[in-house]
Amino acid sequence: MPAPAERIRVTLIAGDGVGPEVVNAARRIIEAAGVAIEWEEAEAGAEVFRKGDPSGVPSETIASIERTRVVLKGPLETPVGFGEKSANVTLRKLFETYANVRPVRELPGVPTRYSGEGIDFVVVRENVEDLYAGIEYLQTPDVAMALKPISRKGSEKVIRYAFELARREGRRRVTCCTKANILKMTEGMFKRVFEELATDYPDIQADHLIVDNAGHQMVKAPAQFDVTVMTNMNGDILSDVASGLVGGLGFAASGNYGDGVAIFEAVHGSAPKYAGKDVINPTALILSSVMMLRHLGEHDAATKIENAVLVTLESGEAVTQDLARIAGSDVEEATSTTGYTDAVIANLGRAPSKQVDRVARGIGDRGALPDPPARWSYAPKRYAAVARKLVGVDVYIETDLPVEELGPKLEKLAPKPLKLALISSRGITVYPAEAAADDVRWYRCRFLVSEGKTDDATVEKALAKLLQQITPKHRWVQVAKLHTFNGEPGYTRPAGAGS
Ligand code: NAD
Repeated sequence: MPAPAERIRVTLIAGDGVGPEVVNAARRIIEAAGVAIEWEEAEAGAEVFRKGDPSGVPSETIASIERTRVVLKGPLETPVGFGEKSANVTLRKLFETYANVRPVRELPGVPTRYSGEGIDFVVVRENVEDLYAGIEYLQTPDVAMALKPISRKGSEKVIRYAFELARREGRRRVTCCTKANILKMTEGMFKRVFEELATDYPDIQADHLIVDNAGHQMVKAPAQFDVTVMTNMNGDILSDVASGLVGGLGFAASGNYGDGVAIFEAVHGSAPKYAGKDVINPTALILSSVMMLRHLGEHDAATKIENAVLVTLESGEAVTQDLARIAGSDVEEATSTTGYTDAVIANLGRAPSKQVDRVARGIGDRGALPDPPARWSYAPKRYAAVARKLVGVDVYIETDLPVEELGPKLEKLAPKPLKLALISSRGITVYPAEAAADDVRWYRCRFLVSEGKTDDATVEKALAKLLQQITPKHRWVQVAKLHTFNGEPGYTRPAGAGS
């Protein structure tokens, strides 16, 4: 046993619902495996919301995480009517844990329709950006809009993480799944960054799938995947699909990795109907704690615990309720959470008949990535090298006017050098073309510079004047400047006619 001063410190958040039961199971097993951890118990979730803290994460908890840099947590409920934000999302954002890693692996003794195919892959999900930025607007009482911010830096961080993970686990393929065919700027940026970074990893096969096809492939032939990397929303959906392939939420572990902090938790939620009943399957959190131990460099203990779980499942000696349902055995006879935990502890030191060697190689050092390469592209130099030109503005207008009347009115009030180029309704040009788009009383009105060589300052003045002219006559709700970058439009063209 190391002296107390050498003990690893970990922030332990029991969480809500079944959280305390699964966290306690993992803690007992880690201690039985001989790892000396000094747990800093901290609060987050429902109770904190109820006490009136709208973030769900008290400052003491934040201070503990700042000290320990490692968290093992149970699920946190987002109570309806108390606070608005998810405490989970708050934690991930506060500590910029940009890579959500979910291993998906066939487990012995857990029968599924894919048993025997050898499923063994990892979903790496971007964890901070995308629609989870939570930036939404009501444009009118009846039209809502969300923003999907994707940054080059955010994409580079998670994509590099995926390639590094592939290397250190001896994996050969990284598949990027995007919707770049439709979302050419946002998902397209993620795909382009993936293709750029892939050249740094010639030893790894890098390929791309459109995300809907990836979903199809995942349920049709899941064993083909090795590492997948995705933007936040795609990763959220496909990682849940993936956990369904190998036995469900009771077995799905995850780690949220940032540059300085990592948070380990089961994929499942607080399952309130099972809270306090000692029936929940703690495997997901136990396997999350195995990921945590690898992150802390405790490889032997991690493998010991992982093996004990595999032995317990393989032997069929302790079958929790969810597994009994999958396996078709008697649910009434199922093993309790405590009984299952005891069985895993009793199996510490034993090895399963088939072992998957995915032990982290050399990166137990708190998961830090190698230094960013020199071409890490958010360097200020890069911005200076991009020629940017202001070429117009989109003004979103709420109106009862039919578009045939709105169009000519806007044409008249556009100050030079701006000219109304088109009006679109939810991405379809409706003016001057005559597309049969439904009228939702909300239009994007695009004004473009009509003369070739106009400097940005002149266009800025015209934009301000345009808004002054529109304001007394029409209700505008949002504006977006239009730029070209190195001559390429930094905005999408609507379907149908127009630019
Ligand atoms: P849930 O995961 O809690 O439960 C869904 C169903 O899955 C349960 O009814 C149960 O049958 C099953 N299940 C889940 N975990 C299991 C386990 N370990 N063993 C056996 N069966 C298990 O999802 P939910 O009901 O949608 O969410 C409940 C609460 O949890 C909500 O407040 C939600 O916001 C929160 N949540 C938190 C997290 C997190 O903290 N990371 C994740 C998801 C949901």
